[in-house]
Parts: sequence; C-alpha cells; structure tokens
Amino acid sequence: MTLFDTYVVVDWSGGNDAGARPRKDAIWVCNAGDATPVYLRNRQVAEQWLAELIETETGAGRRCLIGFDFPFGYPAGFAEAVTGSEDPLAMWSWLEARIEDHPDRNNRCQVASDINALFAGVGPFWGNPFRSQDYADLPRKGLARTNTEFPERRAVENRAKGSFTCWQLAGAGAVGSQVLMGLPVLSRLRQRFAGQVSVWPFEQLQTPVAFVEIWPSLIAPQIAQAQQPGEIKDAAQMRVLAGVLASLDKHGRLDAMLAEGQTGASEGWILGVGHEAELARMANEQIKPEALANDCFALPQGVNWTSVDEALARLKDRMQPVMGVETIPVSESAGRILAEDISALRSNPPAPNSAIDGYGFAFEHMERKMPLSAGRAAAGAAFKEALPAGQAIRILTGAVLPEGVDTVVMQEECTVTDGQVALPDKVKQGQNTRKAGEDVVQGALALRATHLMRPQDAALLTALGVSDITVTKRLRVGVLSTGDELIAPKADAPADRTFDANRPMLLSLAKRWSYDAVDLGHVGDDRDALRDVLNEAAGRCDVILTSGGASAGDEDHVSALLTEEGSLTSWRIAIKPGRPLALAMWNGTPIFGLPGNPVAAFTCALIFARPSLSVLAGGRWSDPRGFMVPAAFSKSKKQGRREFSRARLTDDGHVEVFASEGSGRISGLSWADGFVELDDPAQKVTPGDLVRYVPFSSYGL
Ligand code: AMP
Ligand code: MG
Repeated sequence: MTLFDTYVVVDWSGGNDAGARPRKDAIWVCNAGDATPVYLRNRQVAEQWLAELIETETGAGRRCLIGFDFPFGYPAGFAEAVTGSEDPLAMWSWLEARIEDHPDRNNRCQVASDINALFAGVGPFWGNPFRSQDYADLPRKGLARTNTEFPERRAVENRAKGSFTCWQLAGAGAVGSQVLMGLPVLSRLRQRFAGQVSVWPFEQLQTPVAFVEIWPSLIAPQIAQAQQPGEIKDAAQMRVLAGVLASLDKHGRLDAMLAEGQTGASEGWILGVGHEAELARMANEQIKPEALANDCFALPQGVNWTSVDEALARLKDRMQPVMGVETIPVSESAGRILAEDISALRSNPPAPNSAIDGYGFAFEHMERKMPLSAGRAAAGAAFKEALPAGQAIRILTGAVLPEGVDTVVMQEECTVTDGQVALPDKVKQGQNTRKAGEDVVQGALALRATHLMRPQDAALLTALGVSDITVTKRLRVGVLSTGDELIAPKADAPADRTFDANRPMLLSLAKRWSYDAVDLGHVGDDRDALRDVLNEAAGRCDVILTSGGASAGDEDHVSALLTEEGSLTSWRIAIKPGRPLALAMWNGTPIFGLPGNPVAAFTCALIFARPSLSVLAGGRWSDPRGFMVPAAFSKSKKQGRREFSRARLTDDGHVEVFASEGSGRISGLSWADGFVELDDPAQKVTPGDLVRYVPFSSYGL
C-alpha cells in the first residue's frame, strides 16, 4: 500500500512574473503521473494551479503529496521571537499578513528590513536585489551583519551540502526570497483547504494532502544525467523529483524518510536528507536511455550477401541499451542485468575466523601442553574477552578469532585431559584461520554493471552486505506469427493448415532469457491487420520478434509492409538454415523478422536475436562459447555460407549430427543439444576431424 496516489513537486521562485515563454528560474511544477513539467509564469498563476490541483485530487479521493523547494521554517528561535508563538506555522500567518505580492512587484525586502528592525544589531536578513533602492535595516552584505541572536543555518542545512541559508535574499542560488514569498501562498492554501492539508514535519500527516520540503540538489548528478537535450534544468529537476517521490512510495521508503522530520521539528526538514544514496537510486529509475536510431539496421549500398560474422559485427555495433532501471531485492535478481557497479559494503569475512572445529591460541606463546580456558568461541557467539597468553580455547568453525588467538589446531589432532590441551608436533602460525577480507575486501568492486545475475551472485552480494540492487527493467519481447496457413493445434485440422509452432518456441526463448514475453498472437497475410498489430505492439514492447513472411515473395507481407512503412532492411545472410532476416524499426521499436520455418527461426533467434536482445536489455554482447570436438559423421559442405547442424555429444565424446538436414524436421531440434557450426569455406568432414560444437547452454538454454 502506498501512502499517496499523486506526487507533485514545485520549483518556487521569489522573483517577478517571468513572461509567457517558459524559461529557467521561474516556477515549474510536475505531476509524477504524467511526468510533464508545467511552466507557471508567476505566483498568482501558481497559487491558482495548486488550488485546482488540491480540489481535483481531494475531490477524486486521491491522497496527494506536494513538495516545495524552499524552507518551511527558520533557524530555531526565530519564528517564536517574531510571532511570540512556539508554533512554526504562526510564522506562515505572520508573513501572510504582511507580504504584498503582485506579478510585477512585491514588498519582500521591506518586510525583511522590518523584521531586522525588531532585533538588536544588523540582520539576520541580508541581500538586496534592487540597485536603486536601499532598505534602512537590510544590509547588502552578509558580513555587515552583527545580529548573532539566531543560528545561521537550520539543523538540516548543516547536513545538506551546498544549501543556502534563509537569511540571504539575493544572489545566485539564494533561497531567502522564496521563503518570504512562498510561505504566504502555502499559508493561504492551508486555510482554504483547512482540514485537508497538513504540513510536514510540523503536523501529523493525517489529511489527504501533505506539503513537504524538497531539495533537488540532493540528486544533482542524476538530474544532470536525466536532463534531455533542450530541456530546461528546472523542468528536468521537477520531472525527476516527482518520479523519485512516486518511486520512494512505491518501494515503501517514504515512511522512514518522513519519520526523520522530527529531528527538525520547529525548523522544518528536507525530505530525504541522510538518504542520498537511496534518492539517487530512485532518480536513476527516471533516466531513460536513448532510443535506437531509425536507420540502425541500414546496410551499405550494393551489399548482396552478408556473412554471419559481418552480420553479427553490425548488430553488435548498432545495438544499445534501451531500458530504464529499477531497484529490486537481491533475492529476486536471478536473470536480471545489473545497471550499477556493486562494491562490497562489508568485507567477507568481516573478521578473522576459524576454518575448523578445534583449539585456538597465540602461536607466539605456544607450549606442547596448554591450559584450556573457560568458555568457547562459536559462530554467531564470539568469545568477547582477550585470551590470556599461554592458554588455549575451544573454538568452532566460523567463530571470530578471540583477541589473542591467531592459530587453530584441529580437534582430532589434540588430546584434552585435566583441563590441558596437548598439541601435535607440527603447528604453523595462522593455520586453519581465515583472514578478514581474504575473499573480498570492503569497498572492492564485486560485480560490474551489465552483469547478468545468477543464483551464486545473489549469495555473493548478500555476503557483502548488499540487499537491494539497481537493475535494468525487464525487456518486453513481443512475439508475433504471420501467415494465412497458421492455426492453433486442434483435432481434425485440415492438412493444408500448419500449427503455429514458432510462437510458443519464441515466447519460451524470451522467458528463458528472463525477458517479459508478450504474446502478440497471430495475423494472417493481411497488411492492414499486420499494421494494426505492429502499431499497438510497438507501444507495449521494447522489441518484436516476428516469424514468417520475411522473404520477398508474393505472400511475404511482413517484408512488404516494413519496406513501405517501417524502414526495413532485408539482410541476406549467408547462413544455413535461415533465409533473409528482416530487420526494421517500427515507431522506434526494433523488429527482428525471423524466417517462418521453425528450424530456421530457432537458429536465427539464437544466433542473431539473442546477443542483440541482451544489449537492448542493458547486458553484454556475448559470443557463444564452442568447443572443438571430434566428429562422429562425415559431410561435405559448399563454399560461402555458414552451416549450423543440429548436433549432440555421444557418450564417447564425439559429436554427431541429426540424420536429416531437411529444415522442416523440427524433431531434430529436440533431438539435439547443440549445433555443429561449420565455417564459411567449402570443407569435407570425415569422422575424427575436429569440428566446432556449440552447446545450446552457450545460448542460454
Ligand atoms: P514463410 O517464411 O512465411 O515463407 O514460411 C516458411 C515456412 O514456414 C512455411 O512452410 C510456413 O508455413 C512455415 N511457418 C511459418 N510460420 C510458422 C509458424 N509460426 N509455425 C510453424 N511453421 C511456420
Ligand atoms: Mg508465410
């Protein structure tokens, strides 16, 4: 259950109307729901916008979190000194009663000057953006101040690196004017929606709407990365921050951050301070990688036949990651692809410990017979004191070595009588102990981004103290079969109908490779129907695998339609089995048009689609590992194409190939456990010759 339904962030401004055209340093808001930043030219427009938002959201029964990027309070003691009340919200009303605001002018400097006049000395407010006008009690320079009654910063500002103080009204980055001009607006909204709005951390969040204080600089590097070409920085900040609030809530992390507000009960607090790493992760989730170029599958002019190696080299060159990221628990990470380098949070092992059950002591003070100390050291139950020199102690496997122990002798090699341990003849210093960090030292790189997580990696990361990791989102792989002849299996099917075998095969492949397999069904040889399916599929898939209709024949509607509308390139690859690969972009989504024949579709999926999908998903390009194995068959092959035969290992370590080469023989795929891959030149294989065998496991099967 999330705490909120709607997440809105506001980048405030203390200045005048910023004009009709969106520009920086004005007011920007963003609702995580549509992630589209909105420009608001002045505070009057913004107040209206916020009022409408609150009305709509509460009217619809939605709980709404609204973040503002200016302090909700002043350093301790100030508000009370001004208003006479302990309630920090009294300062809001106090300012509301005095601040006059118009699109082209406001009295914030006068109000600040008036406040300064209440106190002895000069300050605490300072900074005057207006050259031509002086204010009696508002110094232009911070150093001119003599008032030391109030702290310079709020507690939270001491923890937020690079933050400005509320006392400074002018200068790049100063926030003082925003506070003076923001709090009156929030104060009015609070009253207008009395009982529906609460202010964090001053009030219990038991109303549908919560106002919180946020600060984009906490995730400045991520925002810089997420900023799109031509996007105004303020807009990018709000877009990313809105997404961060939504992600935090989705991951159940808001509660803990909100609880922290109590630290700054009267001064206010910035949501997320102290949780920067977590914020950074959530911000990473907002970063969308660049899309593939529309001509990414283009081939140079005049290319006729493309060799397998060249086709693979081209795909390797053109593919790039297209997925955003998300944070998941390590326990659910198998098959996922790391989107961050992971370093050890703790050494493994964290402390020196015993590798066996036995007796431990200091080698330096070793005697043939040593008195046995009381107590023992066990895994999870350390011996807390130091062991006196010259004594031995009972120690069990995995127990942290007590202070004064550096050597352990196996229990089978010792005899214990009358409280004395007799040791064997040969003992080496440090034997049977494990050093702290001997496996992995804290801070060492454990796994790199692009790593495909396996079960053993979950053990490693957990041992190193890592419980959540950022991975790429699952690639959504659409699978579509084409051809009028295809039907689902059923009894009494006419003999001229073909059961759609490719779809379950390709869907299973996608799942086996840990992607989201999206069943796009089957379309006949009908261009309009195909167009409709592709239009719809491109919106909910990251890549589409089609089979059938990929050649240039009369009924090859996939290639025909893609040629007309989808920037198709037919790659005539010199491969057997397989016919042209139809590669195309459809509304920004890559399509791999595989041959219809199931044996060819399977082969091409393994050889061409698999490494490409891996890169699209954020992983590595991987060439399948093969082995040279003596042949149990003979064969002569033609010059100029790569041949993949369905093959399997025999019990005596040879490799045999399926009896029939016919590409309609689907049974050969199930018979086989790999391919024999014969290189492009002509060749004669006789039994005993070494040939390259590539097990299906090399293709992730
Ligand atoms: P095509 O590439 O459309 O010319 O199809 C080549 C051969 O593969 C034809 O015999 C098709 O009937 C067959 N075929 C196409 N799609 C499938 C499928 N999904 N399942 C089984 N066979 C298919
Ligand atoms: Mg067909």
